[in-house]
Amino acid sequence: MSSHNFFAGPAVLPEVVVKETAAACIDFTGKGIGIMEISHRSKEFDAVIKTAQADCLKILGLDAQEYAVLFLGGGASTQFMMIPQNFLKTKADYVLTGVWAEKAAKEAKLFGEVNVAATSKEANHNYIPKSWNFHPDSDYVHITTNNTIFGTEWKIDPDTANVPLVADMSSDFLAMRRDFSKYSLIYAGAQKNIGPSGVTLVVIKKEWLEKAGKSGMPTMLNYNTHVKEESLFNTPPTLPIFTVGRTFKWIESMGGLEAIEAHNIKKANTIYNVIDAHTDFYKGAVAEAIDRSLMNITWNLPTPELEEKFINEAKQQNMLGLKGHRSVGGIRASVYNACPMASVETLAKFMEDFYKNNK
Ligand SMILES: *Cc1c(COP(=O)(O)O)cnc(C)c1O
Repeated sequence: MSSHNFFAGPAVLPEVVVKETAAACIDFTGKGIGIMEISHRSKEFDAVIKTAQADCLKILGLDAQEYAVLFLGGGASTQFMMIPQNFLKTKADYVLTGVWAEKAAKEAKLFGEVNVAATSKEANHNYIPKSWNFHPDSDYVHITTNNTIFGTEWKIDPDTANVPLVADMSSDFLAMRRDFSKYSLIYAGAQKNIGPSGVTLVVIKKEWLEKAGKSGMPTMLNYNTHVKEESLFNTPPTLPIFTVGRTFKWIESMGGLEAIEAHNIKKANTIYNVIDAHTDFYKGAVAEAIDRSLMNITWNLPTPELEEKFINEAKQQNMLGLKGHRSVGGIRASVYNACPMASVETLAKFMEDFYKNNK
């Protein structure tokens, strides 16, 4: 592999998973039929989706009696409206920690009252709030565990007592251990950390399903439809599900979430250490170290011109995807699970050289 992939999403996948997907596209059944060319009702595909659902719960440490795993279309953005459409009866609490959290809250407002339980907006979302105002009678609390654009991440799973906790984990799903049993609904667009675009993973507590849906609601938008049919109500995104399933196997082969988390901490610290060693030149975008994302590392250089130079020179050395999100600028290195240590070390070395040459 010649390029170092730091794109924010779609993003780097484990090389073995990409190879397995390529081979399955050519011949999945052993008889010359590819994964894209076979019925979602076939016994072969049924094994793919059932195994992926079981492996997902195994990695999360959750019980299939209590939780269901769905593979839906429409991206994480469709969950922004599907969650309130199913569960917002009167009011919901949202913690606004970035662009995606704000988009989720905007959709919720279409269905009921939205209480901003906490926000980091006044500081351009450079931290995760440490206190919040959750209402004990809210329908649910919504958080965004990793803020892909600003580079902040919740390191704790907040207590919400009896109020169901919902999380957008799109950009750090399966990046670290969490107390997943605290969550009533977890969702993630696959294309950041676990697969290609086209499938959105939803892990939902079955107990909460009694509250899902409203009369007169379209069938496809009701979570009960998909849980009842085990995510095969209609044709699901079969090829992305195959790839996500292989990523789950890869995570298990790496030693599960504990090992993945340790590796991610090592990788992220390799970059943060360079930033911290040269604070006269590299300005970390996140205010407090505890809130720094393991997945999306964000920083600035003294001028926009130097940032452009940094990005261009990195590109010449095959380091791709380092430009910050168009809404905030600066530099962003996305170092998802599958980003190898070798890529991170290459970037760290480049940062040292760039510092010496341009400070
Ligand atoms: C990328 C991203 C989204 C949007 O996902 P889509 O699948 O494109 O709708 C939502 N939330 C977070 C945290 C993201 O990083």
